[in-house]
Order: sequence, then C-alpha cells, then structure tokens
Amino acid sequence: MTPFEEFNFSGQKALDRVDFNVPQDEKGNITDDNRIRAALPTIQKILKDGGAVILMSHLGRPKGGPEEKFSLKHVLPRLEELLGLSVAFSGDCVGEAPTQASAALKPGEVLLLENLRFHPEEEKGDPEFARKLASLGNVYVNDAFGTAHRAHASTAVIARFFPAGKKMFGLLMEAEVTNAGKILHHAQKPFTAVIGGAKVSDKIEIIQNLTRIADHILIGGGMAYTFLKSMGKEIGSSLCENDKLELARQLREGTLGQVEIVLPEDSVIADRFAPDARTRMVDNDHIPPGWMGLDIGPKTVSRFAGIIRDSKTILWNGPMGVFEMEAFRSGTIAVAGAIVAATRSGAYSLVGGGDSVAALNQSGKADQVSFVSTGGGALLEYFEGKQLPGIAAIRPE
Ligand code: AMP
Repeated sequence: MTPFEEFNFSGQKALDRVDFNVPQDEKGNITDDNRIRAALPTIQKILKDGGAVILMSHLGRPKGGPEEKFSLKHVLPRLEELLGLSVAFSGDCVGEAPTQASAALKPGEVLLLENLRFHPEEEKGDPEFARKLASLGNVYVNDAFGTAHRAHASTAVIARFFPAGKKMFGLLMEAEVTNAGKILHHAQKPFTAVIGGAKVSDKIEIIQNLTRIADHILIGGGMAYTFLKSMGKEIGSSLCENDKLELARQLREGTLGQVEIVLPEDSVIADRFAPDARTRMVDNDHIPPGWMGLDIGPKTVSRFAGIIRDSKTILWNGPMGVFEMEAFRSGTIAVAGAIVAATRSGAYSLVGGGDSVAALNQSGKADQVSFVSTGGGALLEYFEGKQLPGIAAIRPE
C-alpha cells in the first residue's frame, strides 16, 4: 500500500472520501465541526503538493433521494472558512455536473460533491455508481474511518477502479488504523479493556473477542446489571436485557482463567431515571426493588482505578453510568482520570465510541490519552475482530 505521506500529488486530482457527517440543528446549521477539522490535514497535504481535491461524503440518512436538510451545501461555508479557500460545489456527485467541474479543476483547487447517499446505489455498493465516481479523479484517498465498516460504493467498491499505487488511506484513516492495530495486534501486557454503555447486546461481540487478548475486562454502565443478574443478584429496576442473561453467564463462566472479567461491586442507585432523583450508595447485592443503578460506586471506582493504574495498554469504550446527568457522572469521570494517570506513567490508551469520547471531552482530558478515535460503529467492529471493507479494499490482509 502506498503511504499517503510519501505520495506526490502534484498534478493529480485526488478523490478524497471524507466523513463530513456532522451533527446539525433543525435548520441544518452545523453544531459540531470536529469531523471537518479532522479531514483538513489530508486535504492540505494534497494541495501543498500541487494537487487538486475532490471531496465526497455522506450526510445524515436521506431516504434514497435529495433532501434539502442533508445537502452538503450546509457544510460548504465552514469548510471554506477552515481551509481559508473558496471551494467549488457540484449539485450532484455523479453525471455531467461533477464531470465538468472536475475537468475544470486546477491544481490547488477543491471541489465538494453533493451527498453520496442521495443515490441509493451508494449504500448498495453498486459497481457502476462506484465507477462513475472513480472517473472523476485519478487517485483515491479514503479518510473516512467512521464508515470503514460499510461496503459502500465510495468506501470500498470504488477502490477496484484504481491501480495499487493510486489508492491509499488519508492521514486520519491511517492514524485510526495504526492506533487500533496497536491494541488488537500488539498490545503490551497487562491489557485492560474498560467497556460500558447501555446495552449488553451492543457489546457482546467486542467482549467476546477481547477475551482472547485482554487480561482484564472491566464492565460498567447499564450493561453491568445484566451480568449481575446472571449471577443471581437482585438489581431492582436497573437496566436489564433478560434475553441476554444466559449469554452473560456463559461469557463470565466460559472465560474464567484466561481473562478476568470484573463487574461493579457497588452502585449509585436512584428511585427514578431523572437528574433530581433521590440517590443512595449501595453494594450490588442490596439494590432495593424499584431502585435502579445509574453509576458505579466508590468501591468499584477504586478497584477499576487500581487495575487501570497497573496496565500497560488500555482500551475504553462506553460510559460507566448516565454521565449526561451530574448525579451519575462521577464514575465515568474517575475512570477517565485513572486512564489519564496511567497514560502519564507510560501506558498506551485508546478511547473510542461516541459517548466515552463525549465524557472525556466533558472532563477536558481528551488531549491526555494516547489516541481518541473518531470511529463509533467502525471501531467497535474492528475490535470485534471483523474485517472492515473500507480497510480491506485498500490494504488486503
Ligand atoms: P452506549 O451508546 O451503548 O455506549 O451507551 C451510552 C448510554 O448508556 C449513555 O447515554 C448513558 O446514559 C447510558 N447508560 C450508562 N449507564 C447506564 C445505566 N446504569 N443505566 C441506564 N443507562 C445507562
């Protein structure tokens, strides 16, 4: 695979698949431009070399045709502002308009194509649609890690229309793949995975796969209560997926000896799911009926923090409690603090998954871990051990 940094883009028209799927308010205004910012270094390197850039992305979930709300026009002003350049826009991503716009593009110029998902062929991975996109440029750069788990036309199928030396990861994608690979393939021991969030069903496969490589898996968040109930504990009205009890039991029992799965010992419980609920701190064998666990308690925090402190590699995905509410935030913040402290002492730490990143940002510590991933579903599938089509299309394993 050609390393992006070594490629000279002079005189080239690079088709750069970015992830401009930014959050918007009801009027279509961008409420968070991090994804645009993250795509800039790749764009700037191509321009600096004397190449031209054709940007393609999806935005939102249009229902198979153009929808004003999801037009990439909304991204244009912020992109121009951040790049300090005017950017041409093509009202369609395939056909006459982008073909002409691409032909007119000169070195140092940027063209943004309209939302790829205005064509259902994008998500179907249609080869003819991919071929039309490919015809717009002569080098393909994939910088959209967030969609790497999708076999879509612009993320995977398109690569087959470019020769080996003319398809590559962009800088963002390269960093994501390198950092995730460090954990999956070269984790220094002890390796601790901290997994939280609402549902066991979303995280079963990642836990299953991590049992092969991790030394400790610390489980927090709502999903912990399904595990606790599978051990026969009373969990009151805490979140529980009854159809996953058997799976949780098997996972706990089937992996004993190879990896230590650590469950919370105590909880911050509440009498209802609300920021101003009445709260109590209890051991997990004493959650009264009608009360629900919404955060890990102090004994759990200190056990988790101790294990994290002694680790050389740490992966964190998912909050330890309902961190959106002040009263149930401290477990998540404490875990973030422990990961930061371990990183300072030389551990390698990767944080990924929308909510743990949000929690890390909230505590102002995002720059104090080794790597913060932009990939939600893609990162999860990577750690589930699945092959991601967006990666395989460029770097077959
Ligand atoms: P996920 O998207 O699976 O990572 O889950 C994140 C969500 O899980 C957040 O919105 C949290 O508020 C929620 N969550 C975490 N812990 C709990 C809990 N103990 N009970 C209910 N929801 C929780």
